[in-house]
Amino acid sequence: MGFSTTGLNQSLIDTVTEQGYTEPTPIQVATIPAILAGQDLMAGAQTGTGKTAAFALPILQLLSEAPVSASPKRAIRALVLTPTRELAQQVYKSFVTYGSQSALQTALVYGGASVNTQMAALASGVDILVATPGRLLDLIGRGAADLSQVRHLVFDEADRMLDMGFIDEVRRIIKPIPAARQTLLFSATFGPEIFALSKSLLKDPTLIEV
Ligand code: AMP
Repeated sequence: MGFSTTGLNQSLIDTVTEQGYTEPTPIQVATIPAILAGQDLMAGAQTGTGKTAAFALPILQLLSEAPVSASPKRAIRALVLTPTRELAQQVYKSFVTYGSQSALQTALVYGGASVNTQMAALASGVDILVATPGRLLDLIGRGAADLSQVRHLVFDEADRMLDMGFIDEVRRIIKPIPAARQTLLFSATFGPEIFALSKSLLKDPTLIEV
């Protein structure tokens, strides 16, 4: 079967082939066509299922194919929120690896590392931002992160984000993000809080469980 049935373009298929991936995992089979079609998703996925590629690959494709704006400056068009710096680092690495054939720039911001370095990275122009909530709010407060152009918003491990008490931060972060966006929520578990959050953030989401 291979990746060609997912709707990914040849450049991304070449990239995953270089990574040694021959078949999409079940979560990738389910999410890639849905994300490419512009749907909002609520996806149940454990770590190790290939969930990072399941959202990173189609987002890279959508951003590469989006019309280039008249403004020469890059803008953050995709934002991935993760609960921990370890997960943020993994997700960042995946975007850099899978996006190596594209001209897209990815940046990483998380607490415990130099704010100045992260501000410089943001100032140099970013298409995709991977962030933990506390540091991102800090950077928004400093005027260093403009989320007004975000078109794709991803919550990775949303259940852990709520368990760690990030709900207020998350609500403040998403305020400046336009309602005309695609929202993707990945979570290992789906308790009542996740459903409540999804109801307020997602539009007519497709439910994916593998
Ligand atoms: P994740 O669930 O995103 O943490 O991914 C777990 C591991 O699976 C990572 O090391 C990926 O490189 C790998 N992976 C992702 N997609 C595939 C695939 N289609 N085939 C083989 N390995 C994959």
